[in-house]
Amino acid sequence: MKRRDLLTTFAAAAVAAGPASAQTRTEGSANKKPCPLALHDYEPRSMLHVKETKVERARFPVIDFHTHITTSDELRGGEKMTFHATPEQLLAVMDSTNIRYMVDVTGGVGKGLEETIAKLQKPHPDRFIVFTEPWWSRSADPGYPQFQADQIGRAHAAGAKGIKVLKILGLYLRERITTGPLVKIDDRRFDPMWETAGALKMPIGIHTSDPEAFFLPIDRFNERYEELNAHPDWSFHGKDFPSNMELQEARLRVLARHPKTTFVCFHVADSEDLPLVSEWMDRHPNMLVEIAARIGELGRQPRASRKFFEKYQDRILFGTDASPSGAEVPQQFFGDPLYRIYYRFLETDDEYFDYAPSKIPPQGRWRISGIALPDSILEKVYYQNAARVLGLTM
Ligand SMILES: [Zn+2]
Repeated sequence: MKRRDLLTTFAAAAVAAGPASAQTRTEGSANKKPCPLALHDYEPRSMLHVKETKVERARFPVIDFHTHITTSDELRGGEKMTFHATPEQLLAVMDSTNIRYMVDVTGGVGKGLEETIAKLQKPHPDRFIVFTEPWWSRSADPGYPQFQADQIGRAHAAGAKGIKVLKILGLYLRERITTGPLVKIDDRRFDPMWETAGALKMPIGIHTSDPEAFFLPIDRFNERYEELNAHPDWSFHGKDFPSNMELQEARLRVLARHPKTTFVCFHVADSEDLPLVSEWMDRHPNMLVEIAARIGELGRQPRASRKFFEKYQDRILFGTDASPSGAEVPQQFFGDPLYRIYYRFLETDDEYFDYAPSKIPPQGRWRISGIALPDSILEKVYYQNAARVLGLTM
């Protein structure tokens, strides 16, 4: 688009935004006065003339290790699954973008899990993989530790290939499920579950904590102000919430206690602090990371990220957190545009592009640069590392 077209578009957008902003803008240009503009109305277009590489398909087949095709409300005792798309709808996008497998991590428990496996994995064993989840709603029952370990065995027999531990553990689950003190991540009642997972070679995909800014006040200093303002329930500031570091340390104690269990720490574990994540990975050989919904972080520190990928090339998995449900979280909205941004980040040295298919960067107002990984690392990150962890031959 030429610059003049962009200006016209911008002027049209100002008019469309309403009479007040149109008027302010006209006055502003005529009299060279400041023109107030609400932050949420501001959609600056970059004037940089930089290379733009279109990566329609990944250079190698991809295992998306972190997706939510189905969800349930197990915390409130539900085995009922919600399916957000049909296999046919998913396969169309997978085929056009070179996704070989989607791992549906929130596959549910009990009857729900059986339904997920029957609808996704059974008819398409070479395209979908289903994980199970802990029975959070039973975690206050006497005998839970053994019950939970047994359920992992049952889920494995039913076809589940791994276990997803949502940030429910650490931030939502309480001693009386939804009331009482928060249950700690390293609570001993889960030890038999972690051990059983290791014995059955089922990887744990674990999401702990959240972006560091979610633990700070939602104020003018918060770099995720707009995101938190749009989703205030994502804030873990105050109340009885532990700090990011307390959550991280509890998870590390679990990793240390179960060295034969593979833990894939979702969202790069703590994507704002790669030096610290590196220390953890050096200390815990059973720790891997996955990159979903954090290319916004990785891509704004492209040189540090590239070094991180070089050093831990055997322990980084591709994932997106993609869900076909609702577009209000654009950085996770399943579709061709989402995957193409990830590929551009991993494969090219393009600079200053959007990390999500969205008019306004949804996680913070910055843009990212690609890290141009060589083929040898791309292959590992796209599928080889995940295939190893899942025991797949590809
Ligand atoms: Zn997720």
